[in-house]
Amino acid sequence: MAQAAGGGSSRATGVGVAAGGAAWFMLYLLVTVGPLLVAVTANPPPGRDLWTEISVGLGFVGLSMLGLQFAVVSRFSAVNAPFGLDAVLQFHREISYVAMVFVLAHPTIIFVTQPEMLEVLNLVEADWQARFGVLSVAALLVLVATSIWRRRLRLRYEVWRVLHGSLAAVVVVAALAHIEQVGYYVDGFWKRSLWIVMSAAFVTLLVNVYVVQPWRERRRPWEVTSVTPARGSSWTVELRPVGHDGLRFAPGQFAWVTFGRSPFAVREHPFSIASSAEEPGAVQFAIAEAGDFTSTVGDLEPGTRAYLDGPYGVFSYERHEGPRFVFVVGGIGIAPVLSMLRTLADRQDARPCLVVLGNPTWEEVPYREELEELRGRLDLTVVHVLEDAPEGWEGETGFIDGDVLDRHLGEGYERSRYFLCGPVPMTDAVQAALAERGVPTDHVHLELFELV
Ligand SMILES: Cc1cc2nc3c(=O)[nH]c(=O)nc-3n(C[C@H](O)[C@H](O)[C@H](O)COP(=O)(O)OP(=O)(O)OC[C@H]3O[C@@H](n4cnc5c(N)ncnc54)[C@H](O)[C@@H]3O)c2cc1C
Repeated sequence: MAQAAGGGSSRATGVGVAAGGAAWFMLYLLVTVGPLLVAVTANPPPGRDLWTEISVGLGFVGLSMLGLQFAVVSRFSAVNAPFGLDAVLQFHREISYVAMVFVLAHPTIIFVTQPEMLEVLNLVEADWQARFGVLSVAALLVLVATSIWRRRLRLRYEVWRVLHGSLAAVVVVAALAHIEQVGYYVDGFWKRSLWIVMSAAFVTLLVNVYVVQPWRERRRPWEVTSVTPARGSSWTVELRPVGHDGLRFAPGQFAWVTFGRSPFAVREHPFSIASSAEEPGAVQFAIAEAGDFTSTVGDLEPGTRAYLDGPYGVFSYERHEGPRFVFVVGGIGIAPVLSMLRTLADRQDARPCLVVLGNPTWEEVPYREELEELRGRLDLTVVHVLEDAPEGWEGETGFIDGDVLDRHLGEGYERSRYFLCGPVPMTDAVQAALAERGVPTDHVHLELFELV
């Protein structure tokens, strides 16, 4: 579990983070091409033509990449710390296309160079090595298609997640069975040992994601203490630890939350922690009604069991120290910013903060009273931008754009650290406006409430 990033300068943190990132990347490359090198250099099977060798090589690389996907999504703190979970999940999505190309190249080259092999597609007559191969590739195609077109196929997130995990297991296990059945590359002590280690590692990663992590959460349960309505169809949900000392987190981080009797439930949702990092013994979440699960949050009863997996994320002022902080927020994007402001206030931090908040109407501005209260404890300026302003409103109207920023950023804006959280059109527009005004990109940090 990641700890709050307190202490150490941000430069030192940056160097460590870069070194950690480079080390993980090298390890990734090694594991990806390692099995291929051992398989083809140790003792190439006799009488195989070059195209077959190339196709097998590509298949091995693709399989290693797919197996490593379990490590990528395992939410290991050490892997996520240098990059942030969202960047890691982005990598997971994009690298899966590369892996798919490698995997598909394997049968494609064989069918083009040896058309008689197309017979293996007749699964009734084909042998088991062919059946496992076809099963693995077919499962991979369905997995990728259901991920790209999840919304168009109207697959509920929870259904998709179970399908995704199951198909991923089928892809990898069937591919390993295919290699075992083919036999060419798993004869001899070293190659067989490598195959066994690789298989065991992939299965261990699977068990870690679906069994070990939920089991760990089970030993650290939480309990809902209150559920309070907030503005903008949002709810403040407070949890207290049951029998343990709570969660240490950096302000701005998030956790995966499961409400109910078991952490093995599929209904696990990511929410930013909105409370102060100085109070790890009780955490608050600010949850807006968005869909089937969040619309029922108001029905949660005090005393309901909850499980937290976290903290995750790198969206925290602690990782990006600066002389002044600017938070640009849309709607419930205020949640991680509240945590940062509350923590700054509890730590009696004197650095100036500016919050620019975009919301549809004045009545729907979530946590505006809390922000008002924080103005008394911090050097804090709050600028509201309303799409539909009430009569007599003298503040900003419309959307947050370059003109709004020009009116409020003030002096020294290039040296400020920016934290953006809200709908993508807003964060895109603000990022572009800041870039146009010469704010260095490494001063701008983003949290998107979309992972899939
Ligand atoms: C890092 C992060 C922090 C977040 N913090 C907050 C917060 O502080 N407050 C808040 O109100 N919302 C937050 N969200 C968004 C919140 O997770 C979704 O609104 C919620 O999961 C939607 O669930 P639903 O079933 O009500 O809606 P649905 O209509 O089922 O889903 C709406 C969309 O939310 C996404 N989603 C749904 N379920 C999940 C899930 N289990 N895991 C990941 N994504 C999912 C999918 O893209 C889906 O299309 C955060 C999201 C992320 C990624």
